[in-house]
Amino acid sequence: MVQCAPRWIASNVRRVVSDEARPSGGAPGVRLHDTNASSLAHFHYRSMTSTRNTQAGAEPRSTQTWFGIPVREARLRTRLMLLRLLGASPLPALAKRMQPPGDLIICLHNVVAHHGPLGVNRGLDLTAAELEAVLAHLRVEGYRPVSLQDIRIRSKPDLRHDERRVAITFDDGYAGNFHVAYPLLHRHGVPFTVYVTTGFMDREVRVWWYALERLLARVDGVAFEHAGRTFTYSTLARTQKVRAYRAIRALLLTARPALADELLEQLFGGRGGELRGLADVDLLTPEHVRALSRDPLVTIGAHTVSHPVLRALSGDESRREIRGCRERLEAVTGGPILHFAYPFGNRAAFGTREETFVRESGYVTATTTCARQIDEIDRPTALPRIMLSAEMDAVTSLNVLQTGWFAYRDRVRPT
Ligand SMILES: [Zn+2]
Repeated sequence: MVQCAPRWIASNVRRVVSDEARPSGGAPGVRLHDTNASSLAHFHYRSMTSTRNTQAGAEPRSTQTWFGIPVREARLRTRLMLLRLLGASPLPALAKRMQPPGDLIICLHNVVAHHGPLGVNRGLDLTAAELEAVLAHLRVEGYRPVSLQDIRIRSKPDLRHDERRVAITFDDGYAGNFHVAYPLLHRHGVPFTVYVTTGFMDREVRVWWYALERLLARVDGVAFEHAGRTFTYSTLARTQKVRAYRAIRALLLTARPALADELLEQLFGGRGGELRGLADVDLLTPEHVRALSRDPLVTIGAHTVSHPVLRALSGDESRREIRGCRERLEAVTGGPILHFAYPFGNRAAFGTREETFVRESGYVTATTTCARQIDEIDRPTALPRIMLSAEMDAVTSLNVLQTGWFAYRDRVRPT
């Protein structure tokens, strides 16, 4: 389902070569205009989990292209266009007026002081100001912020007081949750949940998406060998940098893990030990997680060990990802971990098998990215969530997604 067909890999590489890069005989590496470019912290590591061709926040990769555009990009563009069109119309407000009131769970990833230099990770980020705007909008709409355990499943909102409840959640475990979101939400007295991917927290999985953006922002060009070809990208102008980012991301998401690792080794200087620190500034540490867990406003939840597409794994592997994460987080926090979020969160990424593993592992709730409010038929192990990011105005996006119009693809059916 999500495994990449070798034939597609080959055709994709050819497309990248012809459209984006010029094959050259130059040595792999980066052309720098910043002498500090290789000053990544040095770490030793014994074994490193491969990238597993994952990018948190991205959908499980597709193996097809539409008119030369990868399906993932095409779907994203279409979705954004529809959201913008509907957001500019009076339709969401009308639909919401006719909708029975329901509670909401919001899915965020990172909260940052400023967006990255190329804007290529806006799908994961909100700035502090954007998060404030979302909170203000929810307040105006009559939502009361509560913790995840206070979202009472199968109960109706308090209609007497016209009050609905909203729970804020963050996926993956980015450092911005501690440094930017935590002080902000603490100031507002807003409870929140952080779903931690323990392989990110323990620096066992290579998290390359922010580091690649930073690298391309500061270099004038990159060259590397991959799958028997040499790729050279000139990255002087911002548009060239963004194009190079997208092309390299496509290679990383579709390459076999060992090849993806080789590519990262070349890009980041070929000093393998430093890869452990690749995303050190981007991710929570065990100390951050422990500190957060001590605040009654904060719930620590689990988001697997290595952020895989669970459904693509064997039963044993899937169970280990779900259970192992809980065990590691309980060791870090010293308390029970009762809440889980499926990586990617859509129906391509998890199924009834994973729901069973979640229940067997002792979790009380599990959340998806099925974009709608909670209704009475929802199971605790497949709760809908509305994912917001800075890819478009978050309040507009929230307004449209609250209608449930975009939940069709990931409908969670009662069993
Ligand atoms: Zn995730």
